[in-house]
Amino acid sequence: MFNTGSELIKLCNEKNKKISEIVIEKELLNSGIKYDELMNRMKEILKTMENSSKYSLDKEVVSVSRLTGGNAIKVEEYKNTHKTICGDIINSAMAMALSTSEVNASMGKIVAAPTAGASGIVPAALFTVKNRLNLSDEDIISGLFTAAGIGEIVARNATVSGAEGGCQAECGVASAMAAAAVVELAGGSVESSLDAASFCIINVMGLVCDPVAGLVEYPCALRNASGVANALISADLALAGVKSLVPFDEVVEAMYKVGKLLPESLRETALGGIADTETGREAKKRI
Ligand code: SF4
Repeated sequence: MFNTGSELIKLCNEKNKKISEIVIEKELLNSGIKYDELMNRMKEILKTMENSSKYSLDKEVVSVSRLTGGNAIKVEEYKNTHKTICGDIINSAMAMALSTSEVNASMGKIVAAPTAGASGIVPAALFTVKNRLNLSDEDIISGLFTAAGIGEIVARNATVSGAEGGCQAECGVASAMAAAAVVELAGGSVESSLDAASFCIINVMGLVCDPVAGLVEYPCALRNASGVANALISADLALAGVKSLVPFDEVVEAMYKVGKLLPESLRETALGGIADTETGREAKKRI
């Protein structure tokens, strides 16, 4: 039905449908399962996302390696007790993103969206917009389909793997998926959804993958927090009418090219970037 962003926009406009509706149609066609079953599966996914986004907000969850953890509750408490700089929305979103990252690092259950390392971004953005706009679970499920459609386009034409394209391909793409969904849920056009997705990737173009000790913990959790902020600000930019000069498909192509230019040391090998600092190397020895 569609392989690229421009095909998706064309299809939505021809059929006068939202991205989520087109993605649902495609999924029904490809999977052969019934509509109700598809929705039930997505409800289960949403439940797992909700659990992981909230799990660490009221308790300290530390990673198996004991390298990281306990930050979601810190941000949540800070938001509740201080006059924060970025306000409740961004701080709440960051706390939820950190929560899922901490659940992942402690071997809990998360939904890879598109990967485990970037799993905090999509749920945190969707639950933030759910609270902000008083949306239903059904609305959020449609947002998940929108996010999935964007992720599929990138996976088909480039990569969503840090080992292949750096963190721009994991956290950057997760932000793009989330931003497109947020725009649709806020009533924005299909074109604006794709613009927001483009902004997210442009904002982190070249971001390397450099996990300390090779564990998906640090700087991964921080990039989930900044990734959800990236998604929300990009959605707002697009909803305000800011257009992406470069279309989504070209942004994805550029991201892929940049990923290929990254040396091996900056593609999940833990040999460069933050992993290759004095502290990063010491942490690796300790673990
Ligand atoms: S730094 Fe690497 S492992 Fe960590 S989230 Fe980014 S791409 Fe994934």
